[in-house]
Amino acid sequence: MRAFSYERAETPEGAVKAAAGHPNAKYIGGGTNLLDLMKLEIETPSHLVDVNHLGLDRIEETPDGGLRIGAQVRNSDLAWDPRVRTRYGVLSRALLAGASGQLRNKATTGGNLLQRTRCYYFYDPAKPCNKRDPGSGCSALDGFNRILAVVGTSPKCIATHPSDMAVAMRALDATVETVSAEGRRAIPIAELHRLPGDHPERDTTLSAGELITHVTLPPPPPGVQIYRKVRDRASYAFALVSVAAVVDTRGGEIRGGRLAFGGLAHKPWRVEAAEQALAGHPASAAANAAADRVLEGAKGFGSNDFKIPLTRQTLAAVLSQAAQA
Ligand SMILES: Cc1cc2nc3c(=O)[nH]c(=O)nc-3n(C[C@H](O)[C@H](O)[C@H](O)COP(=O)(O)OP(=O)(O)OC[C@H]3O[C@@H](n4cnc5c(N)ncnc54)[C@H](O)[C@@H]3O)c2cc1C
Ligand code: SF4
Repeated sequence: MRAFSYERAETPEGAVKAAAGHPNAKYIGGGTNLLDLMKLEIETPSHLVDVNHLGLDRIEETPDGGLRIGAQVRNSDLAWDPRVRTRYGVLSRALLAGASGQLRNKATTGGNLLQRTRCYYFYDPAKPCNKRDPGSGCSALDGFNRILAVVGTSPKCIATHPSDMAVAMRALDATVETVSAEGRRAIPIAELHRLPGDHPERDTTLSAGELITHVTLPPPPPGVQIYRKVRDRASYAFALVSVAAVVDTRGGEIRGGRLAFGGLAHKPWRVEAAEQALAGHPASAAANAAADRVLEGAKGFGSNDFKIPLTRQTLAAVLSQAAQA
Protein backbone atom coordinates (compact mmCIF):
# COMPACT_ATOMS: atom_id res chain seq x y z
CA MET A 1 0.00 0.00 0.00
CA ARG A 2 1.30 3.49 -0.84
CA ALA A 3 1.62 6.12 1.91
CA PHE A 4 -1.33 8.49 2.31
CA SER A 5 -2.54 11.20 4.68
CA TYR A 6 -5.90 11.09 6.48
CA GLU A 7 -8.41 13.73 7.51
CA ARG A 8 -11.81 13.51 9.21
CA ALA A 9 -14.36 15.97 7.77
CA GLU A 10 -17.24 17.35 9.90
CA THR A 11 -19.56 18.79 7.21
CA PRO A 12 -20.26 17.91 3.55
CA GLU A 13 -18.84 21.25 2.41
CA GLY A 14 -15.79 20.69 4.64
CA ALA A 15 -15.24 17.28 3.01
CA VAL A 16 -15.37 18.81 -0.47
CA LYS A 17 -12.91 21.51 0.60
CA ALA A 18 -10.57 18.95 2.15
CA ALA A 19 -10.60 16.86 -1.03
CA ALA A 20 -10.03 19.92 -3.23
CA GLY A 21 -6.80 20.65 -1.36
CA HIS A 22 -5.17 17.45 -2.66
CA PRO A 23 -4.82 16.49 -6.33
CA ASN A 24 -5.45 12.79 -5.69
CA ALA A 25 -7.84 12.68 -2.72
CA LYS A 26 -10.53 10.04 -2.12
CA TYR A 27 -13.47 9.89 0.24
CA ILE A 28 -13.65 6.86 2.49
CA GLY A 29 -17.00 5.47 3.68
CA GLY A 30 -16.97 1.90 4.99
CA GLY A 31 -13.69 1.28 3.20
CA THR A 32 -14.75 -2.25 2.20
CA ASN A 33 -13.92 -1.69 -1.49
CA LEU A 34 -11.49 1.22 -1.38
CA LEU A 35 -9.05 -0.37 1.09
CA ASP A 36 -8.89 -3.61 -0.93
CA LEU A 37 -8.06 -1.57 -4.03
CA MET A 38 -5.45 0.45 -2.12
CA LYS A 39 -3.77 -2.73 -0.86
CA LEU A 40 -3.46 -3.91 -4.47
CA GLU A 41 -2.27 -0.40 -5.48
CA ILE A 42 -5.08 -0.16 -8.03
CA GLU A 43 -6.29 2.95 -6.20
CA THR A 44 -3.42 5.11 -4.92
CA PRO A 45 -4.94 8.19 -3.24
CA SER A 46 -2.47 10.54 -1.60
CA HIS A 47 -5.13 11.75 0.89
CA LEU A 48 -8.20 10.08 2.42
CA VAL A 49 -11.13 12.23 3.56
CA ASP A 50 -13.23 10.31 6.09
CA VAL A 51 -16.92 11.06 5.42
CA ASN A 52 -18.37 9.07 8.34
CA HIS A 53 -18.99 12.08 10.59
CA LEU A 54 -20.97 14.41 8.33
CA GLY A 55 -24.38 13.79 9.90
CA LEU A 56 -25.46 11.84 6.80
CA ASP A 57 -26.46 8.69 8.68
CA ARG A 58 -30.24 9.20 8.85
CA ILE A 59 -33.24 7.97 6.85
CA GLU A 60 -35.95 10.63 6.71
CA GLU A 61 -39.50 10.84 5.36
CA THR A 62 -40.02 13.25 2.47
CA PRO A 63 -43.20 15.39 2.27
CA ASP A 64 -44.48 13.40 -0.75
CA GLY A 65 -44.27 10.02 1.00
CA GLY A 66 -40.80 8.96 -0.13
CA LEU A 67 -37.58 8.48 1.82
CA ARG A 68 -34.33 10.45 1.87
CA ILE A 69 -31.35 8.26 2.74
CA GLY A 70 -28.09 9.75 4.01
CA ALA A 71 -25.00 8.64 2.10
CA GLN A 72 -23.44 7.22 5.25
CA VAL A 73 -26.41 4.99 6.19
CA ARG A 74 -25.01 1.46 6.49
CA ASN A 75 -26.36 -1.20 4.15
CA SER A 76 -27.63 -3.29 7.12
CA ASP A 77 -29.47 -0.34 8.67
CA LEU A 78 -31.09 0.50 5.33
CA ALA A 79 -32.13 -3.09 4.64
CA TRP A 80 -33.72 -3.55 8.08
CA ASP A 81 -35.38 -0.12 8.38
CA PRO A 82 -39.11 -0.87 8.89
CA ARG A 83 -40.13 1.77 6.30
CA VAL A 84 -37.80 0.27 3.71
CA ARG A 85 -38.96 -3.26 4.48
CA THR A 86 -42.65 -2.43 4.17
CA ARG A 87 -42.62 0.13 1.36
CA TYR A 88 -39.49 -0.74 -0.65
CA GLY A 89 -39.17 -4.49 -0.26
CA VAL A 90 -37.21 -4.76 -3.51
CA LEU A 91 -34.49 -2.55 -2.03
CA SER A 92 -34.38 -4.38 1.30
CA ARG A 93 -34.07 -7.75 -0.46
CA ALA A 94 -31.41 -6.49 -2.88
CA LEU A 95 -29.30 -5.22 0.01
CA LEU A 96 -29.65 -8.46 1.95
CA ALA A 97 -28.64 -10.42 -1.17
CA GLY A 98 -25.34 -8.52 -1.27
CA ALA A 99 -22.00 -9.37 0.36
CA SER A 100 -22.13 -10.70 3.95
CA GLY A 101 -23.56 -9.47 7.25
CA GLN A 102 -20.22 -8.09 8.40
CA LEU A 103 -19.63 -6.25 5.12
CA ARG A 104 -23.18 -4.84 5.13
CA ASN A 105 -22.59 -3.52 8.66
CA LYS A 106 -19.69 -1.41 7.35
CA ALA A 107 -20.73 -0.62 3.76
CA THR A 108 -22.46 2.71 3.15
CA THR A 109 -25.08 3.88 0.67
CA GLY A 110 -22.66 6.26 -1.09
CA GLY A 111 -19.81 3.74 -1.17
CA ASN A 112 -22.03 0.96 -2.46
CA LEU A 113 -23.13 3.08 -5.43
CA LEU A 114 -19.50 3.90 -6.24
CA GLN A 115 -17.92 0.48 -5.69
CA ARG A 116 -15.83 -0.62 -8.65
CA THR A 117 -16.25 -3.54 -11.02
CA ARG A 118 -15.35 -7.07 -9.97
CA CYS A 119 -13.77 -7.91 -13.36
CA TYR A 120 -10.94 -10.33 -12.49
CA TYR A 121 -8.45 -8.49 -14.71
CA PHE A 122 -9.17 -5.14 -13.09
CA TYR A 123 -7.88 -6.66 -9.83
CA ASP A 124 -4.77 -8.16 -11.46
CA PRO A 125 -2.13 -5.46 -12.06
CA ALA A 126 -0.10 -7.93 -14.16
CA LYS A 127 -2.81 -7.96 -16.88
CA PRO A 128 -3.81 -5.20 -19.35
CA CYS A 129 -7.02 -3.41 -18.35
CA ASN A 130 -8.35 -0.20 -19.90
CA LYS A 131 -10.33 0.63 -16.78
CA ARG A 132 -7.30 0.40 -14.51
CA ASP A 133 -4.70 1.63 -17.03
CA PRO A 134 -6.34 3.47 -19.97
CA GLY A 135 -4.99 2.42 -23.38
CA SER A 136 -3.40 -0.82 -22.12
CA GLY A 137 -6.06 -3.12 -23.63
CA CYS A 138 -8.83 -5.35 -22.30
CA SER A 139 -7.82 -8.83 -21.12
CA ALA A 140 -11.42 -9.91 -20.66
CA LEU A 141 -12.48 -9.72 -24.32
CA ASP A 142 -10.63 -12.94 -25.16
CA GLY A 143 -10.17 -14.11 -21.59
CA PHE A 144 -12.36 -15.60 -18.88
CA ASN A 145 -15.41 -13.35 -18.92
CA ARG A 146 -18.02 -15.45 -17.09
CA ILE A 147 -19.19 -12.60 -14.84
CA LEU A 148 -18.97 -9.81 -17.42
CA ALA A 149 -21.41 -7.83 -19.56
CA VAL A 150 -23.50 -8.82 -22.58
CA VAL A 151 -25.24 -5.49 -23.28
CA GLY A 152 -23.98 -1.91 -23.52
CA THR A 153 -20.39 -3.11 -23.93
CA SER A 154 -17.66 -1.42 -25.97
CA PRO A 155 -14.53 -2.83 -27.65
CA LYS A 156 -12.63 -1.16 -24.80
CA CYS A 157 -14.41 -2.79 -21.82
CA ILE A 158 -17.06 -5.38 -20.97
CA ALA A 159 -17.15 -4.87 -17.21
CA THR A 160 -20.33 -5.05 -15.14
CA HIS A 161 -21.39 -2.81 -12.29
CA PRO A 162 -21.54 -5.04 -9.21
CA SER A 163 -24.00 -3.31 -6.83
CA ASP A 164 -27.26 -5.09 -5.99
CA MET A 165 -28.57 -2.00 -4.17
CA ALA A 166 -28.12 0.19 -7.26
CA VAL A 167 -30.25 -2.16 -9.37
CA ALA A 168 -33.17 -1.88 -6.95
CA MET A 169 -32.72 1.89 -6.72
CA ARG A 170 -32.82 2.06 -10.52
CA ALA A 171 -36.16 0.25 -10.56
CA LEU A 172 -37.43 2.70 -7.92
CA ASP A 173 -36.28 5.79 -9.89
CA ALA A 174 -34.07 7.08 -7.09
CA THR A 175 -32.33 10.45 -7.24
CA VAL A 176 -28.75 10.93 -6.06
CA GLU A 177 -27.91 14.23 -4.36
CA THR A 178 -24.37 15.58 -4.40
CA VAL A 179 -22.27 18.55 -3.38
CA SER A 180 -19.10 19.77 -5.08
CA ALA A 181 -17.12 22.99 -5.44
CA GLU A 182 -19.74 24.01 -8.06
CA GLY A 183 -22.63 23.59 -5.56
CA ARG A 184 -25.37 21.03 -5.01
CA ARG A 185 -27.16 18.99 -7.66
CA ALA A 186 -29.65 16.12 -8.00
CA ILE A 187 -28.87 13.35 -10.48
CA PRO A 188 -31.47 10.76 -11.58
CA ILE A 189 -29.85 7.40 -10.81
CA ALA A 190 -30.27 6.50 -14.50
CA GLU A 191 -27.65 9.15 -15.23
CA LEU A 192 -25.18 8.34 -12.44
CA HIS A 193 -23.44 5.28 -13.90
CA ARG A 194 -21.95 5.30 -17.43
CA LEU A 195 -21.54 2.80 -20.22
CA PRO A 196 -17.83 2.12 -20.91
CA GLY A 197 -17.60 3.63 -24.42
CA ASP A 198 -14.14 5.01 -25.09
CA HIS A 199 -13.53 5.86 -21.44
CA PRO A 200 -14.08 2.79 -19.28
CA GLU A 201 -11.86 4.33 -16.59
CA ARG A 202 -14.82 6.62 -15.79
CA ASP A 203 -17.50 4.66 -13.93
CA THR A 204 -19.87 7.56 -13.26
CA THR A 205 -20.83 11.05 -14.33
CA LEU A 206 -19.59 12.56 -11.05
CA SER A 207 -16.87 15.18 -11.27
CA ALA A 208 -13.61 14.92 -9.32
CA GLY A 209 -14.29 15.59 -5.63
CA GLU A 210 -18.10 15.46 -5.98
CA LEU A 211 -19.55 14.01 -2.77
CA ILE A 212 -22.78 11.99 -2.59
CA THR A 213 -24.85 13.31 0.32
CA HIS A 214 -28.23 11.53 -0.07
CA VAL A 215 -30.30 9.20 -2.17
CA THR A 216 -34.01 10.05 -2.40
CA LEU A 217 -36.68 7.47 -3.18
CA PRO A 218 -40.01 8.71 -4.58
CA PRO A 219 -43.19 7.16 -3.11
CA PRO A 220 -43.31 3.44 -3.91
CA PRO A 221 -44.91 2.58 -7.27
CA PRO A 222 -47.94 0.24 -7.25
CA GLY A 223 -47.35 -3.49 -7.55
CA VAL A 224 -45.54 -6.42 -6.03
CA GLN A 225 -41.79 -5.92 -5.48
CA ILE A 226 -39.35 -8.73 -6.22
CA TYR A 227 -35.55 -9.02 -6.22
CA ARG A 228 -34.18 -12.23 -7.73
CA LYS A 229 -30.42 -12.79 -7.87
CA VAL A 230 -28.82 -15.72 -9.67
CA ARG A 231 -25.27 -16.42 -8.49
CA ASP A 232 -22.69 -19.17 -8.21
CA ARG A 233 -23.22 -19.67 -4.44
CA ALA A 234 -26.31 -19.28 -2.29
CA SER A 235 -24.72 -16.29 -0.51
CA TYR A 236 -21.60 -14.13 -0.52
CA ALA A 237 -21.38 -13.94 -4.31
CA PHE A 238 -21.97 -11.22 -6.89
CA ALA A 239 -24.89 -11.51 -9.32
CA LEU A 240 -24.53 -13.36 -12.60
CA VAL A 241 -27.95 -11.98 -13.45
CA SER A 242 -30.32 -10.13 -11.13
CA VAL A 243 -33.76 -8.61 -11.64
CA ALA A 244 -35.35 -5.88 -9.56
CA ALA A 245 -39.03 -5.80 -10.46
CA VAL A 246 -42.13 -3.87 -9.44
CA VAL A 247 -45.05 -5.50 -11.23
CA ASP A 248 -48.69 -4.47 -11.04
CA THR A 249 -50.95 -7.41 -11.94
CA ARG A 250 -54.75 -7.78 -11.82
CA GLY A 251 -56.51 -11.08 -12.53
CA GLY A 252 -53.34 -12.63 -13.93
CA GLU A 253 -52.81 -9.78 -16.41
CA ILE A 254 -49.97 -7.29 -16.07
CA ARG A 255 -51.06 -3.63 -15.90
CA GLY A 256 -47.59 -2.13 -15.71
CA GLY A 257 -44.17 -2.68 -14.28
CA ARG A 258 -40.60 -1.64 -13.75
CA LEU A 259 -37.66 -3.94 -14.51
CA ALA A 260 -33.98 -3.29 -13.78
CA PHE A 261 -31.24 -5.86 -14.32
CA GLY A 262 -27.87 -6.44 -12.68
CA GLY A 263 -24.95 -8.51 -13.99
CA LEU A 264 -25.68 -7.56 -17.59
CA ALA A 265 -24.04 -4.19 -18.15
CA HIS A 266 -21.62 -1.51 -16.94
CA LYS A 267 -24.60 0.11 -15.18
CA PRO A 268 -27.95 -1.08 -13.77
CA TRP A 269 -29.81 -1.98 -16.97
CA ARG A 270 -33.34 -0.72 -17.49
CA VAL A 271 -35.09 -0.64 -20.87
CA GLU A 272 -38.36 1.22 -20.83
CA ALA A 273 -39.55 -0.44 -24.08
CA ALA A 274 -39.41 -3.76 -22.22
CA GLU A 275 -41.75 -2.39 -19.57
CA GLN A 276 -44.17 -1.18 -22.23
CA ALA A 277 -44.18 -4.72 -23.64
CA LEU A 278 -45.52 -6.01 -20.30
CA ALA A 279 -48.77 -4.07 -20.10
CA GLY A 280 -52.00 -5.83 -21.05
CA HIS A 281 -50.52 -9.33 -21.21
CA PRO A 282 -50.53 -12.35 -18.95
CA ALA A 283 -47.13 -12.93 -17.30
CA SER A 284 -46.32 -15.97 -19.43
CA ALA A 285 -46.81 -14.09 -22.72
CA ALA A 286 -45.10 -10.90 -21.53
CA ALA A 287 -41.79 -12.45 -20.49
CA ASN A 288 -40.45 -13.25 -23.94
CA ALA A 289 -41.45 -9.94 -25.51
CA ALA A 290 -39.90 -8.00 -22.62
CA ALA A 291 -36.70 -10.09 -22.67
CA ASP A 292 -36.32 -9.44 -26.43
CA ARG A 293 -36.19 -5.72 -25.73
CA VAL A 294 -33.93 -5.99 -22.67
CA LEU A 295 -31.47 -8.08 -24.67
CA GLU A 296 -31.59 -6.13 -27.92
CA GLY A 297 -28.03 -6.19 -29.33
CA ALA A 298 -26.85 -8.60 -26.63
CA LYS A 299 -23.58 -10.35 -27.37
CA GLY A 300 -21.68 -12.88 -25.28
CA PHE A 301 -17.89 -13.14 -25.24
CA GLY A 302 -17.53 -16.88 -24.74
CA SER A 303 -17.68 -17.83 -21.09
CA ASN A 304 -20.55 -15.40 -20.45
CA ASP A 305 -22.80 -16.51 -23.37
CA PHE A 306 -25.03 -18.30 -20.85
CA LYS A 307 -26.20 -14.96 -19.44
CA ILE A 308 -28.45 -14.35 -22.45
CA PRO A 309 -30.73 -17.40 -21.94
CA LEU A 310 -30.35 -17.02 -18.17
CA THR A 311 -31.78 -13.51 -18.35
CA ARG A 312 -34.85 -14.81 -20.21
CA GLN A 313 -35.39 -17.58 -17.68
CA THR A 314 -34.90 -15.30 -14.68
CA LEU A 315 -37.34 -12.72 -16.03
CA ALA A 316 -39.94 -15.43 -16.76
CA ALA A 317 -39.59 -16.71 -13.18
CA VAL A 318 -39.94 -13.19 -11.75
CA LEU A 319 -43.09 -12.42 -13.77
CA SER A 320 -44.61 -15.77 -12.88
CA GLN A 321 -43.93 -15.06 -9.18
CA ALA A 322 -45.51 -11.62 -9.55
CA ALA A 323 -48.63 -13.09 -11.15
CA GLN A 324 -49.08 -15.48 -8.24
CA ALA A 325 -48.51 -12.88 -5.49
C1 LIG B 1 -16.09 -10.22 -0.39
C2 LIG B 1 -17.05 -9.17 -0.85
C3 LIG B 1 -18.28 -9.56 -1.37
C4 LIG B 1 -19.18 -8.57 -1.81
N1 LIG B 1 -20.39 -8.96 -2.35
C5 LIG B 1 -21.24 -8.00 -2.81
C6 LIG B 1 -22.48 -8.33 -3.42
O1 LIG B 1 -22.84 -9.51 -3.55
N2 LIG B 1 -23.29 -7.32 -3.85
C7 LIG B 1 -22.94 -6.01 -3.72
O2 LIG B 1 -23.70 -5.13 -4.11
N3 LIG B 1 -21.77 -5.66 -3.16
C8 LIG B 1 -20.93 -6.61 -2.71
N4 LIG B 1 -19.72 -6.25 -2.17
C9 LIG B 1 -19.30 -4.88 -2.26
C10 LIG B 1 -19.68 -4.07 -1.06
O3 LIG B 1 -21.07 -3.93 -1.06
C11 LIG B 1 -18.98 -2.74 -1.25
O4 LIG B 1 -17.62 -2.94 -0.95
C12 LIG B 1 -19.54 -1.65 -0.37
O5 LIG B 1 -20.89 -1.45 -0.59
C13 LIG B 1 -18.80 -0.35 -0.59
O6 LIG B 1 -19.25 0.57 0.38
P1 LIG B 1 -18.21 1.29 1.33
O7 LIG B 1 -18.95 2.28 2.15
O8 LIG B 1 -17.37 0.31 2.09
O9 LIG B 1 -17.34 2.03 0.23
P2 LIG B 1 -15.81 2.49 0.28
O10 LIG B 1 -14.93 1.31 0.06
O11 LIG B 1 -15.56 3.36 1.46
O12 LIG B 1 -15.81 3.44 -1.01
C14 LIG B 1 -16.08 2.96 -2.31
C15 LIG B 1 -15.90 4.13 -3.28
O13 LIG B 1 -16.89 5.11 -3.02
C16 LIG B 1 -16.30 6.38 -2.75
N5 LIG B 1 -17.19 7.01 -1.76
C17 LIG B 1 -17.58 6.50 -0.57
N6 LIG B 1 -18.52 7.31 -0.02
C18 LIG B 1 -18.70 8.35 -0.88
C19 LIG B 1 -19.55 9.50 -0.90
N7 LIG B 1 -20.42 9.76 0.08
N8 LIG B 1 -19.47 10.35 -1.95
C20 LIG B 1 -18.59 10.11 -2.97
N9 LIG B 1 -17.77 9.05 -3.00
C21 LIG B 1 -17.84 8.17 -1.98
C22 LIG B 1 -14.90 6.07 -2.26
O14 LIG B 1 -14.02 7.14 -2.49
C23 LIG B 1 -14.57 4.86 -3.12
O15 LIG B 1 -14.14 5.27 -4.38
C24 LIG B 1 -18.82 -7.21 -1.70
C25 LIG B 1 -17.58 -6.84 -1.16
C26 LIG B 1 -16.70 -7.79 -0.74
C27 LIG B 1 -15.38 -7.35 -0.18
S1 SF4 C 1 -13.57 -5.68 -19.03
FE1 SF4 C 1 -13.03 -3.60 -18.42
S2 SF4 C 1 -12.36 -3.90 -16.31
FE2 SF4 C 1 -12.24 -5.92 -17.31
S3 SF4 C 1 -10.17 -6.09 -18.24
FE3 SF4 C 1 -11.49 -5.24 -19.77
S4 SF4 C 1 -11.17 -3.03 -19.52
FE4 SF4 C 1 -10.52 -3.98 -17.63
